[in-house]
Amino acid sequence: MTSTELERLTPAPPPGELVDSPRFQVSARTSLTNTQQRANLKHATTTIRNKRARVVGEVADWQALRTAGEQIKNRVGRHLDEYLLEFEKNFTEAGGIVHWARDAEEANRIVIDLVEQTGEKEVVKVKSMVTQEIDMNEALEAARIAAWETDLAELIVQLGHDRPSHIVVPALHRNRAEVREIFLREMGRYGTPPPDGLDDTPVNLAGAARRHLREKFLRAKTSTSGANFLVAETGSLVVVESEGNGRMCLTLPQTLISVVGIEKIVPTFQDLEVFLQLLPRSSTGERMNPYTSIWTGVSKDDGPQAVHVVLVDNGRTNVLSDPIGRAALRCIRCSACLNICPVYERVGGHAYGSVYSGPIGAILTPQLRGLASDVDRSLPFASSLCGACNEVCPVRIPITDLLVHMRHKVVEAKKSDPPHIPHTAEPQLMSIASWVMADGKHLAWAGKGTALVDLILGKGFKVKKFGPMPYPLSRWTDARDVPMMPEQSFRTWWKKNRGELA
Ligand code: SF4
Repeated sequence: MTSTELERLTPAPPPGELVDSPRFQVSARTSLTNTQQRANLKHATTTIRNKRARVVGEVADWQALRTAGEQIKNRVGRHLDEYLLEFEKNFTEAGGIVHWARDAEEANRIVIDLVEQTGEKEVVKVKSMVTQEIDMNEALEAARIAAWETDLAELIVQLGHDRPSHIVVPALHRNRAEVREIFLREMGRYGTPPPDGLDDTPVNLAGAARRHLREKFLRAKTSTSGANFLVAETGSLVVVESEGNGRMCLTLPQTLISVVGIEKIVPTFQDLEVFLQLLPRSSTGERMNPYTSIWTGVSKDDGPQAVHVVLVDNGRTNVLSDPIGRAALRCIRCSACLNICPVYERVGGHAYGSVYSGPIGAILTPQLRGLASDVDRSLPFASSLCGACNEVCPVRIPITDLLVHMRHKVVEAKKSDPPHIPHTAEPQLMSIASWVMADGKHLAWAGKGTALVDLILGKGFKVKKFGPMPYPLSRWTDARDVPMMPEQSFRTWWKKNRGELA
């Protein structure tokens, strides 16, 4: 790879740039105006959602499987330290090398050092969420090492100088015509160009990607990956994927560096039986994954002869210390909650300002990153709390409970009043609401007060509901109608029909 190729690899800041993103409510408004993206999202999420429902309906003991997944992951949370050490021992005995990384900086430093030790200037890469979480590609580029994405959707995102918008299908926001245009414009700049006359049929687009990637697979001496699971009992890593690119990255190069979040542990090999049923059905609506690769250390003369795993914390032990919030660590990144979420379907992944988008992103990101930024404090509010995500989550994460829990934390953070958090009238309004709701007499007085407002504003002017109102009330009424009070309160009705209140 020439230095010019490397220069070009560094993407220009895309529209969905995650660093310094505006808070969710602002970026969601911008996303909503992108009608092409909305159409792409609706089509893609509806297709995956329906496929999932079909294959999940075939499994008689689906609910029992979900409970098993939940309980295995809960056990992992309770004994994480022991399982990690067991994994380290078994992986090391099998010839692999384990590295521990407290945070993103440490993880990237380890990966860069390992690649530099090989003398290589490029790596091929299996799709991995944790490497996006720690911005590994950017760190490698800064060290003048190119990281080539080999998953088709990740390739589209990388060539388009874009950011992933979905956990499993990162280019979900793009349609075929856009993909063709990206391939024609960018592919030749980084390697094998697309064939002449490329059209936008899926088979031809996939063929162009295959030709482009083959050259990189055959040339690369080093690869990086994540892992869906780490098996403590055997010291094995597991990657599930659909395209075979992962299998190429895990077997062809001489050195393999796997970067994995510490929560990916499962205790025993038999536990995979549960997750290898839950994951493909929940994620892509398939009965089983086309490719499941399991590797345990080094096999002489077969596959990579140097195998490293970098175990990354990066905020996970903080999440584990929260008895309610820790349920988010059960997540197996299937994306079923994204595909069913009415908010995600309309705004897409970039609006969340995080590599983890949708309902899981709204709870996991502020837990991992903390509540210091505007965008992270806004994420727990990126939901209508409809609860559809709770129903589909294969490990039964009570996502809406966690959203409310995180909202509470945001309110508490605001109360502590750091100067950079803007003041709003919300705490005062909530104090008034709390006073009203706390006592039946207060509620009765409030009922009389609202009846008076109703009489003056509603009946007097024959108004049925409040429409748009001046600022600051417009912040509520611009998007919602506020109905008028009913003819009479429940108390009045009771008094009239049943006599005095007890
Ligand atoms: S929270 Fe549940 S549904 Fe959402 S990605 Fe994680 S495992 Fe899948």
